[in-house]
Amino acid sequence: MRYIAPVPSPAYDWSSRHSVLTMARRTAALLNVLSTEDGPDPTAIAEVLLAYGETGPVDLAARDVDGMRTAAALLRQVFTADGVDGAAEVLNRLLRDHTGPLRLTAHGGRTPWHPHLDLDDDAPWDEWLIASSCMALTVLLWDRQLPPGRVCASPSCPNVFITQGAGPERRYCSRRCATRERVAAHRRASRSSPAHR
Ligand SMILES: [Zn+2]
Repeated sequence: MRYIAPVPSPAYDWSSRHSVLTMARRTAALLNVLSTEDGPDPTAIAEVLLAYGETGPVDLAARDVDGMRTAAALLRQVFTADGVDGAAEVLNRLLRDHTGPLRLTAHGGRTPWHPHLDLDDDAPWDEWLIASSCMALTVLLWDRQLPPGRVCASPSCPNVFITQGAGPERRYCSRRCATRERVAAHRRASRSSPAHR
């Protein structure tokens, strides 16, 4: 029998790059670079956009960054909401007040057909961020009947992340936060144990 080496399918990359989960992860990554205390860095925002398939160059004016920051603050409420019902309530409010009607676009043949909630393919960045994020987070909530994401459980970390459908429930945004909190909990436990008094 002839062995045919598996070839990565371009069709798979083509659609997985635009998958709902990828779009939702891009939302979380953008919220994290947009919510930094000392103000977002336009280069860091552009890096996230390019990493998630935006074709460059990405030139963000101060006005764009301000708008995206406002949009990020609104979207953050989905991640801080109480349970699936709370997240759905926030999403319904954002869908009512900040997005257009559902439409399909293939960006002139450059992408697979996918749904959009902004009014135009050339919508301003803030409108695009709210619309594309609401779309991805809404579909994830629908699919799993769970909140689409949450805030990192580390008290010193403001990051949001997309919760995974499979595997044990994640509490931290990254391995780095999980390790730091585990070490801190271990220190607290050994300080309070009688053997160490
Ligand atoms: Zn974290």
